[in-house]
Amino acid sequence: MKSQQPCAYCNRTDTKLTKEHLWARSLHQRLQKSRGDKQHSFWLSRLDKVVETEPKLRDVCDVCNNGVLSQLDAYICALWDKYFFRIHERGEFVNFSYNYDLLCRWLLKLCYNSARIHKFDDFVYPPLVPYILNASSPVVEFELFLQIVPPGFLSVSELKEMGLPDDKALRWEPDIHRIGFAQFISNDGRKKILRAIHLRSYSFFLAFFQPGTTKSEINEFLSIFLLQKQEVKHISPRSDFVVLLCDGMDALESFQGSHSKFIAG
Ligand SMILES: [Zn+2]
Repeated sequence: MKSQQPCAYCNRTDTKLTKEHLWARSLHQRLQKSRGDKQHSFWLSRLDKVVETEPKLRDVCDVCNNGVLSQLDAYICALWDKYFFRIHERGEFVNFSYNYDLLCRWLLKLCYNSARIHKFDDFVYPPLVPYILNASSPVVEFELFLQIVPPGFLSVSELKEMGLPDDKALRWEPDIHRIGFAQFISNDGRKKILRAIHLRSYSFFLAFFQPGTTKSEINEFLSIFLLQKQEVKHISPRSDFVVLLCDGMDALESFQGSHSKFIAG
């Protein structure tokens, strides 16, 4: 008998493999409901009419999928109901409460799933699987950041240039879920690629550090990053609360940045 592919999380081969959705169905249903979206489209916009079916993986066992991974999805859905459903306007303050480990474990699960689909940074996540599954101490250093992104606007002349209806400026809301990358360039020219996860107005950034990176090097990155991007806040493991100002990069700049794969620092 052909041996079964091991589960990408628990590595077992004696359990049933199931479909794992990149975006939890419960989360996607919330998004669709809020947008009044009848179609199962993950990427449908007035500028870029690319419609994708939902990416799925088939290398996760039913024990992981219906157990701990579902619990992480349930936590994110609870955050969605409390925060992510809302589109914030520029200048608004947001008091964001979080459970650090549940939030990070879900974000890492999403990144790991995306990495296995796109085969880009899939080497980063296997050492973090024990942390994703049971909150054991993470063996890879990472830092989490959050930015609240306001709607952007396409002017009448920009719409005209694109051959789109141009009777009035188009309000571009951050009303989708996306996962990708962001590039940060420090003022002295150093570059770092971060994972970017956008849940409507809420843009999370995960910075990973090579094994052997010292605490002082990580702290140096933190201070440079936060000084240069003042609208981005650090999500600290030593807290459960952060106050954010919805400011800086808007949803249109974020979307256009993701098309070139990078968001300039
Ligand atoms: Zn498993």
